[in-house]
Amino acid sequence: MLTTPAPANTQPAMCLLHGDFHTMEQACWAATTDWYFNHQTMDEHGDRHAYLAAVERRMLDNLLETLR
Ligand SMILES: [Zn+2]
Repeated sequence: MLTTPAPANTQPAMCLLHGDFHTMEQACWAATTDWYFNHQTMDEHGDRHAYLAAVERRMLDNLLETLR
């Protein structure tokens, strides 16, 4: 258990913009918010799953770029 948790907005999160798990900047949150706005369904958990899948695809793309 963390005794000195960081504020919520400095916690690393899955970033779609950069395809990374890091501390989100304003542009990162904007990209995430846009994604959710464009992928609204009635299934909150499905949206979250789809978002994480999208970030993972971006991560793999980034990884493949570094291998070229
Ligand atoms: Zn980011």
